[in-house]
Amino acid sequence: MEELSTKVLIVGGGPGGYVAAIRAGRLGLDAVVVEKAALGGTCLNVGCIPSKALIQAAEHYHHAAAGAGETFGLTVKAPVLDFCKTIAWKDGIVERLTGGVGALLRKAKVRVIHGEARIGDGKTVIVSGSSGPVRIRCEHLVIATGSLPAALPALPFGGDVIDSTQALALNAVPASLAVVGAGYIGVELGTAFAKLGARVTIVEAADRILPAWDTELTKPVARRLEELGVSVRVGCLAQGRPSEGGGLVVEPRGGGDGSVVAAQKILVAVGRRPATSGFGIEGLQLAMSGPFIGIDDRCATSMRNVWAIGDVTGEPMLAHRAMAQGEMVAELIAGHRRRFEPAAIPAICFSDPEIVAVGLLPEQARASHGDVSVGTFPFRANGRAMTQGDDAGFVRVVARDSDRAVVGIQAVGSGVSELSAAFVLAIEMGARAEDLAATIQAHPSRGEALQEAALGAFGKSIHV
Ligand code: FAD
Ligand code: NAD
Repeated sequence: MEELSTKVLIVGGGPGGYVAAIRAGRLGLDAVVVEKAALGGTCLNVGCIPSKALIQAAEHYHHAAAGAGETFGLTVKAPVLDFCKTIAWKDGIVERLTGGVGALLRKAKVRVIHGEARIGDGKTVIVSGSSGPVRIRCEHLVIATGSLPAALPALPFGGDVIDSTQALALNAVPASLAVVGAGYIGVELGTAFAKLGARVTIVEAADRILPAWDTELTKPVARRLEELGVSVRVGCLAQGRPSEGGGLVVEPRGGGDGSVVAAQKILVAVGRRPATSGFGIEGLQLAMSGPFIGIDDRCATSMRNVWAIGDVTGEPMLAHRAMAQGEMVAELIAGHRRRFEPAAIPAICFSDPEIVAVGLLPEQARASHGDVSVGTFPFRANGRAMTQGDDAGFVRVVARDSDRAVVGIQAVGSGVSELSAAFVLAIEMGARAEDLAATIQAHPSRGEALQEAALGAFGKSIHV
């Protein structure tokens, strides 16, 4: 068996693993990354990037097909969708990005081993790849194995029951699609397929869509789903396939009469589970935190020099958290003093309209800080939003009354994902509501709503 030794061995080449590897390489550490599928992991290959590409394509098609241009005096002949071309365009973007990751790793002098890693002990891993097994010994082991779609016992994956990976690789838009789960994936992909022409039903166990956010933020999204003709069945559970014919059996959560929903395909999007089994990790007997690998604020596990980053370590299961952890762990291994203590990790749902949440929602802020002031500014009073033909939504600033520190900023509206940069900066740099209120924002821009919402926290907004 081929033998290798290295200072840092990273298992998993997703956003957590590849960023850790690039940083380690650039710091002059000898680093190896092992990936069993494709560099870029879930995010680049079957997650963030392909889903956003599909959402964008669906938006263009829908605009043309629904005659949205008429608002601007534009008439478009019935558009024709070549879905295979859409998927090919999406695949091209994925290829460019994953190719870029490979090039960055090479430039950082990181060795990439393709194959499945099996962990022997905290210092040895055996990789079975196409060119035969390799035993790798390391000083530091970084576990970055990510997560996998969670299945429902009543609806095992297979046939017409698909996960997000398969939903992003269909070769035709299904005539009808039932989506189980109205979280990030259910709402993002459910909306995209509705815009592409599928008859979509979303089934959600909680009593509203996107239950992780407050109703003020999610109401414009619920309204848009209704306008798109999406049937949303909240407080309901998917019970499986009917004994005869196609579709999905849906029942109210508390019991009651079930009904069958039309479904050429059924997308199950009820969360993701960490990849913590099947590759020998159990043998390390690491302390766990529920189903996730337990870590401290340096991403250190309970075993010395074994680190864990990304989705395998818990919520929020987001690419930018994984990347930030990866960078930090590489620096720790290089001897830097670091802790993972972000003031906020932004969350964006690429729904229609988009939702951004940074820091604490008003209720969470009240629970943690007592009295807070909340300033909200609606896009219907924002010139830029009007000229863009979509003035739904608002920006909201949450400030702690004791010292006016901004502890949360949220928004819902078209294109607000790009405002997240300003929101994160404000919170990470410890801005007070006065600081935001005193900024001069370019006119006309949606950013003006941030300043106005901060003014609103003192009852001083100008344009409402
Ligand atoms: P992963 O990206 O899952 O990478 C883990 C890698 O480890 C994989 O490539 C896997 O093949 C490899 N691996 C596992 N076990 C082994 C082994 N034994 N040997 C070798 N290799 C192994 N997040 C966002 O922030 N924004 C978004 O817009 C967004 N959209 C998403 C859309 C969808 C449809 C999905 C499914 C997820 C989305 N996410 C999004 C979440 C994001 O993809 C994850 O948070 C992120 O990929 C986690 O990175 P990671 O490095 O921890 O794990
Ligand atoms: P999620 O946790 O966002 O949502 C799952 C939803 O399914 C919840 O609303 C839950 O109440 C519901 N649910 C659970 N069991 C159910 C059942 N039996 N019947 C009906 N509904 C049920 O999970 P997801 O949408 O699968 O996404 C997985 C993860 O991927 C997310 O948590 C997030 O970390 C990541 N992601 C992020 C983005 C983004 O950042 N824009 C996009 C997609 C995915």
